[in-house]
Amino acid sequence: MKSLQPVRGTHDLLPDAFRRHRHVVDRAKAVAESYGYQQMATPIFEFTEVFKRTLGDTSDVVSKEMYSFADRGGEEVTLRPENTAGVCRAVMSNGLRQSLPAKFFYDGPMFRYERPQKGRQRQFHQIGVELIGVEGPLGDVEVIALGAHILDGLGILSRTKLELNTLGDQESRAAYRAVLVDYFTARRSELSEDSRNRLERNPLRILDSKDEGDRRLVAGAPSFQEYLTPAARAFFAAVTSGLEAVGVGFEVNPRLVRGLDYYCHSAFEFTTTELGAQGTVLAGGRYDGLIEMMGGPSTPGVGWAAGIERLAMMVADVPSPARPVAIVPVGAEAELHALRLTQELRRSGFPADLGYSGNLGRRLKRADRIGARVAVILGEDELARGAAMVRDLDTGDQSEVALEALQDRLAQFR
Ligand code: ATP
Ligand code: MG
Repeated sequence: MKSLQPVRGTHDLLPDAFRRHRHVVDRAKAVAESYGYQQMATPIFEFTEVFKRTLGDTSDVVSKEMYSFADRGGEEVTLRPENTAGVCRAVMSNGLRQSLPAKFFYDGPMFRYERPQKGRQRQFHQIGVELIGVEGPLGDVEVIALGAHILDGLGILSRTKLELNTLGDQESRAAYRAVLVDYFTARRSELSEDSRNRLERNPLRILDSKDEGDRRLVAGAPSFQEYLTPAARAFFAAVTSGLEAVGVGFEVNPRLVRGLDYYCHSAFEFTTTELGAQGTVLAGGRYDGLIEMMGGPSTPGVGWAAGIERLAMMVADVPSPARPVAIVPVGAEAELHALRLTQELRRSGFPADLGYSGNLGRRLKRADRIGARVAVILGEDELARGAAMVRDLDTGDQSEVALEALQDRLAQFR
């Protein structure tokens, strides 16, 4: 039966995978909180307009990747492909513009109809931060430094590279756009079909094309740097000197453009060579125009998102859960005793596991399988003496311990 498989591009997070996932989120959240970013969550679906208006019709996400449907009431809704638009929508819906700047951290599932491959899923998960209401370059520096700090906390910063570019202000973009249109129009026949479409609607996006032929043309295209206004140039200079001041290394990549319409000024990506084609682990930029695109007042913002699956693949060791105490009753008489003892230990804060059934051998095997550190064997003879056998499962050593002294003894195995 087809329905016994998860939908293509989706995955179950079984306990080991989930633990890695959780580790990434917990670490990231702790660092984000130390920068004053507070966790929030928006709904997993929004009105389709929220994404359509902000990401732009020419973006890959809107044109090909969204999970959109009409619900039973006829509302056009979309499973969120990213969370920046939702967070900005929430700022407006909740009247938070009154108390800007606001700093948010989030984590959760995102949905994009893409071709599944390593590091690319249809349901994937992101952590992200948004800093809303800060106009100046210090905002960009802060969120980038926070991203670097989180990667460092996960032990992977040194295996990534920060690529940075500026998309300038509106004036710079208009000037550059005109030059780009001329350049690509003269080479129109060599462009991919996608890029020919972009030429009319959003020529900057061509710089982002993954098509081989396009990339060759892009390599020879005029550079954005020459068309920046003095103000945009000064903004970028302030971002780079801020990063230098806080010791965050970067490389300027003039070809880096983000795929979405709402970016301006800083665009950045932390990339790695360890994940094959899916090398971007954390990506973001400044999105001053976004809230306005939604129909709100002009409000600056800057942030990033990172794929949890990609981060989790790079993280080496994740702390394993505390090893439990296995309680092993021997004989029917001991069962109730064991039940009571297990519950007592749990209340005292010992992770404890009572095998459900079976003889001594079977239960010890199970204790092994669940990674128990120590077993408490309750035999009838020991119980009659008010004692239990405590077995160190790593060494096999065992000794009898009075029940009153049991917790003290077990504490030695923590
Ligand atoms: P890509 O170029 O890999 O398609 P993107 O530009 O579409 O990335 P963003 O929208 O910036 O990605 O999302 C930020 C991060 O989320 C990415 O850098 C990546 O780590 C992760 N991500 C994006 N799409 C997926 C996906 N389909 N599966 C897994 N992770 C993803
Ligand atoms: Mg993509």
